[in-house]
Amino acid sequence: MAAYWFERAWIDDRWQKGVRLLVADGRIASVETGVATMDGDERHRAGLPGLCNVHSHGFQRGMAGLSERRSRPDDNFWSWREIMYRFLDRLTPEDVAAITAQAYVEMLEGGFTRVGEFHYLHHDPAGAAYADPAEMAGAIVTASAASGIGLTLLPVFYAHGNFGGAAPSPGQRRFLCDINGFSRLFEAARTKLSGDANIGVAPHSLRAVSSGQLAELLSMSPTGPVHIHAAEQVKEVEDCVAWSGARPVEWLLANAGVDARWCLIHSTHINEDETAALAASGAVAGLCPVTEANLGDGIFPATGYVAAGGRFGIGTDSNILIDAAQELRSLEYSQRLSQRARALMASEEAPFVGANLFARALHGGARALGIPAGLAVGQAADFVSFDLDHPAFAGTDDDTLLDRWIFAARAGAIDCVWRAGVKYVEKGRHVDAGKIGAAYRACVARILA
Ligand code: ZN
Repeated sequence: MAAYWFERAWIDDRWQKGVRLLVADGRIASVETGVATMDGDERHRAGLPGLCNVHSHGFQRGMAGLSERRSRPDDNFWSWREIMYRFLDRLTPEDVAAITAQAYVEMLEGGFTRVGEFHYLHHDPAGAAYADPAEMAGAIVTASAASGIGLTLLPVFYAHGNFGGAAPSPGQRRFLCDINGFSRLFEAARTKLSGDANIGVAPHSLRAVSSGQLAELLSMSPTGPVHIHAAEQVKEVEDCVAWSGARPVEWLLANAGVDARWCLIHSTHINEDETAALAASGAVAGLCPVTEANLGDGIFPATGYVAAGGRFGIGTDSNILIDAAQELRSLEYSQRLSQRARALMASEEAPFVGANLFARALHGGARALGIPAGLAVGQAADFVSFDLDHPAFAGTDDDTLLDRWIFAARAGAIDCVWRAGVKYVEKGRHVDAGKIGAAYRACVARILA
């Protein structure tokens, strides 16, 4: 049993003073508030639950910064995707493990304690299944174990190149399965999980999956999370309308039984009717503001969606830059820039933007990954401490503490991060950052040579 005492900790969506946590077997055994510290407690000044990163493609960390060069007048998501396909063409399972471990180290250092890995790189470079169909899923599990981050594995089903069952392109050959092959992969991946890791199913997008296949995937995984890319691109919306007469989110809400176990990744291009219906469905919008800005996707209508009662989680998606505060800041700033107003992701009842963003991402993220949210008895001991000596926290008070972290801290605000009761980050640095970073650098240097 380990004991932690915080001057203040984020319990039940607010800062509470004098918080003592007992941790046993990786879980929180008791939570006391308004108590003094005791001999033997590990003491910290501010503690808060780690966030769930609802959407990651771990291997894409290895190409971060390699697609920022203008190569043609219409550079956009689709030209970026060509670069991404060329990069992943060369990756072995060992490469994926090394790159993904580095991404997961950075996630822990950046305030995330669990990741939803939207895992679609399944096959060998020729497009043939490995002898173990879940070999690549195993690389993700290896990366999770090496870094310590909690894992929700989301094996991706990918069968088609565009709406209406269009043939896939050669660049997609490492992703492709039929339903039977995917079923074998899914079951083999499940056997690799341990601890509190869980599994869900991820139909890649309505471009890649037929409606009949979607129904089969849902019956394959009747209780876990369901994640799908939806409405990230205007062209995708137009193609979907041409195929079905409906927009992607509209189609999913009308035909797929979208409910609280669904996470619709991006949902960037939704109209007012879709905004209200998505909010009412109980599903989570998986927002990835840094990647969506990097790829030039567009701006999610977050203020209207939240006003309608919508839930969201945040994800690092392409892993171009991994930082929970940066995702939340980018979300708020996207709304400010498009509406030319300030303090938008807040309300009269909850006027502090940082606290509002954090609480919503905490609850939406946990729902999207199928786990309970926050620091409470029985839940995984996944928490973060701040270094309140960081200049951004000077003269801090409870109301503005999260605003200072999200909007004003740059690096260094996070001191320690615990995952399942193990301290993986201390003084802002992962305990194995040196070893995992060295393997990552060697891997990427060889791939790019
Ligand atoms: Zn994605």
